[in-house]
Parts: sequence; C-alpha cells; structure tokens
Amino acid sequence: MTDRARPLSFADLGAQYRRLKPAIDARIQAVLDHGRFILGPEVAELEDALAVYAGCAHAVGVASGTDALQIALMGEGIGPGDAVFLPAFTFTATAEVVALLGATPVFVDVDPRSFTIDCGDLARRLAALKDLRARAVIAVDLFGLPADYAALRDLAGRHGLFLLADAAQSFGATLNGARVGTLAPVTALSFFPAKPLGCYGDGGALLTDDADRAARYRSIRAHGKGDGKYDIERVGLNSRLDTLQAAILLAKLAAFDDDLTAREAVARRYDAALAGLVITPHRTNRSRSAWAQYAILLDDRAAMVEFLKTRGVPTAVHYPRPLHRQPAYAHFANGPLPVSEMLCDRILSLPMHPDLDEAASQRICAAVKEAVVAAGS
Ligand SMILES: *Cc1c(COP(=O)(O)O)cnc(C)c1O
Repeated sequence: MTDRARPLSFADLGAQYRRLKPAIDARIQAVLDHGRFILGPEVAELEDALAVYAGCAHAVGVASGTDALQIALMGEGIGPGDAVFLPAFTFTATAEVVALLGATPVFVDVDPRSFTIDCGDLARRLAALKDLRARAVIAVDLFGLPADYAALRDLAGRHGLFLLADAAQSFGATLNGARVGTLAPVTALSFFPAKPLGCYGDGGALLTDDADRAARYRSIRAHGKGDGKYDIERVGLNSRLDTLQAAILLAKLAAFDDDLTAREAVARRYDAALAGLVITPHRTNRSRSAWAQYAILLDDRAAMVEFLKTRGVPTAVHYPRPLHRQPAYAHFANGPLPVSEMLCDRILSLPMHPDLDEAASQRICAAVKEAVVAAGS
C-alpha cells in the first residue's frame, strides 16, 4: 500500500502506549504484585497528584466521568422539582445524570465560536423558568476549551446555583492562567481512553476545594458509607476508581504536559494549513485548550467525510444531534436552540492525538484542501 493511501488513526492510543510502555507496564505489574485492586495505594497517590496538578485541595477518584457528574449532583441533593441548566450541544452523559436523579434538564444554547454554553441564553432561560427550582448549571468545556467561567460564576452567584464543570474533555486546559479544576466549585473529569488523559477502561474524578463535598463524594462512591464500612449514612453507588486504572493514569500523568504540548502543535499545524479553507476552532489569548478534539465547520460535511475516507483520513462527528432532538430527551425540549442545531449539521472532528506527526498532518490538510477545491469547482 502506498503511504498516501495507508489509513491514519483518529486517536492513536497504540502509539502512546509504545512511547510510555516501560512506565505503564511497571505500574501495572506493581498492582498485580501487591494485589490491592480496590482503593489500593495508587488511587490515593493519583488523587494527590491530580489535586497538585490542578491546584485544588481535593481529588476523589470515581468509576467514570458520568458517575463523577452524577455524584456531584447527588452531593447537592438535586432531585425531582429541580432544574439543572446545561448546553444542548454536548455528550449525552451531561443530561443523563440529571434525568436519572429525577431532576429536569433545561437545555441552553451554545456560543457559535467557542461551542460552550451561551451565558446570555442561560440568563434568559433562568428568567423564563416556571414551576421548577433553579438549582444548578453544568458548564461543558467542549473539545477541551474552557467555558466562560467568569460569567458563569457571576450568574450562579446571583441565582444561588451550584456550578459544576463538566471537564471530561478539558483536563489540562487553562483560562486566564488558572487550571481546569479551579474554575468552578466542583469539576468532573473523565479518564475514558480517548480523553486527553485517558486510562485503559473507565475512570473519572471530582476536583474541589471544599473538604465537606470531598468527604460526601468519598461516601457516595462507596455505597454511602460513614466512618465504619457497614455504617451507611446515605444512598450511594458502587463507583470507585480501579487501582489498575489509577496506576495507568499515574504513568500517563507524568507525560501529560508533553502530550498537551504535542496536541497544541498538531492544532497549530491544522490552523496554519486550514484557516480560510474551513472554519477552524476558536482561539483566544485568555485560554489554552486541552485539544480533546480539533473540530472544523463545513457547509457540506457529508461530501468532506466521503472524500477524506478515500484518502485514508478518518473523521468523527461530535455530535450529530443536539440533546433536545434525541428521542430520550425530546420531552424536555424548551424551544429552539438554533446554534446547537446548526453545529450538529456542520461540525467535523479531524484526527487528533499527541503522536500525530508532521507528515500525517500534511496528508490530512492536503486532503481537506483537495476536497474544498473539488467542492468549489
Ligand atoms: C466523555 C464525556 C463524559 C462521560 O465520561 P465517561 O467517563 O465516558 O463516563 C461526560 N461529558 C462529556 C462532555 C464527555 O465528553
């Protein structure tokens, strides 16, 4: 097969493993040797390392990013009669946890450039709320870019809302020099394999400066236990982070800054080659993205996807449908969300991972260019 036709990978976890293999293998072997598979020493070690990295007081490892979101809401006692505001343009899990707890997701539109929650629309929907208590807002740092937390903290403060950061895609990003994990009172992380900091299965964490909240999260992740193993203080979950996953994450965290730098370099190469051809991602001097995805906007996405396939360039659509148009959530729909709807029709994610080298970037950009030229002729 010629180099030109060899399929590229969308998120090359194999290349990262080959790069970090000695450290990852040694960490895994250590867990197999000590045998403390549930809440073993690596979990506490990782929690400390995450808190230090983010610059917050407490980190609590849990079984997934989805559980991290759910536990955060459970920790506030959110349930029936409560409204939780969240963007319509996000992964399903952000709304799922709200509905699972019997609360009502209130969908909010997003900003057309940053793809994060539109605080003007949030204020309008807060003012229009009827028959429900406004309790919380979940901001999503979509594709790795932090939302507008200054405006969100202001709105949350004025309306008495719990502000939760869904940072499943943005760990490692910064806003005005502050790290994700310090931008909201509580931050939820996911370690799903394809996230910027991913493990080899499911995993997640909660970050906070609040000791009482951290203690509640530790209780909820272990069946609601109190001081003794069989003192049950609340209804909880079985949602611990596996020791093996924590061990893998410790090895990956040591290389995380290098990975983030490599992702930024990939994004810059894309920006330089694609600006003017397609709509490239939003950038500001205030924030640095974790580049979970590099997503462009196109007029004819289907044609681009088909063309790139013929050149061995994989793509993905995050996300093809806004949440208020999903059958499971349609009954929560509360009016049109034109930006979210437009983005779902036009968005396309290009390959993005730290091991995407210059030659692969060039091949991808040349193929995008070829498709744009073909469409224009
Ligand atoms: C991945 C993701 C989640 C869920 O994380 P899991 O670890 O897969 O449960 C939640 N929100 C967003 C925005 C995500 O991208």
